[in-house]
Amino acid sequence: MNVIFIGAPGTGKGTQAKILSNQFGFLQLSTGDLLRAAIAKEQPLGLEAKAYMNKGALVPDNILVSLVSGYLDGLPVGSKVIFDGFPRTVNQAVELDRMLVGRGQKIYQVLYFNVPLNVLSDRLTGRRTCSKCGEIFHIISKPSLKPNICDRCSGELVTRPDDRADVIEKRLSEYNLNTAPTVQFYKDSGRLVEIDAGMDESAVSKAVLKFLGIGNL
Ligand code: AMP
Repeated sequence: MNVIFIGAPGTGKGTQAKILSNQFGFLQLSTGDLLRAAIAKEQPLGLEAKAYMNKGALVPDNILVSLVSGYLDGLPVGSKVIFDGFPRTVNQAVELDRMLVGRGQKIYQVLYFNVPLNVLSDRLTGRRTCSKCGEIFHIISKPSLKPNICDRCSGELVTRPDDRADVIEKRLSEYNLNTAPTVQFYKDSGRLVEIDAGMDESAVSKAVLKFLGIGNL
């Protein structure tokens, strides 16, 4: 069962993908996380991606397609994948369909996380991410128990370089330009389900499980 989580940055896709992967055995394919890992390891692909990411631009499609294709090649048969943050362009969506067909698979459902754009900026500027395990906190809506320390692994909480106000603006404009048409692409092909992701985290979790037909919430 392959699922896509799509929506603007800050809609909570990553948080929900982590919940599903921890509780229901999904693998979370976060292209943002893979790119950040490649940057941390100073791999050539990471170094190429870094310049785009730090200014809030999308990384070119060819880099993303080879990253995702390589990831899929390494998966055991029967894996359940949540695509979190991929695809973000119509071209990536077409390529993903092609990659999956070639592997005898398809997308089960696309969940569109819808949050009013004016709320997103607050969510992103208040976001703090664990530098060790990637757990996501928010200074107002989900503070850590100890300031700047991850509740889960005691790693240091940091503000991602692309969660600065000026970069956020560019990320949201990339969303409007490229990812909103991708949402429409899935809508037109009858695969899209919309979730009100402006609700609190547990209400969104319940909605996600209901749409996917799993759990007994
Ligand atoms: P995220 O962690 O999903 O918010 O992604 C952080 C950044 O990584 C984005 O702002 C882009 O620069 C880059 N990125 C992640 N996924 C993609 C994608 N599917 N296509 C292009 N760029 C991406």
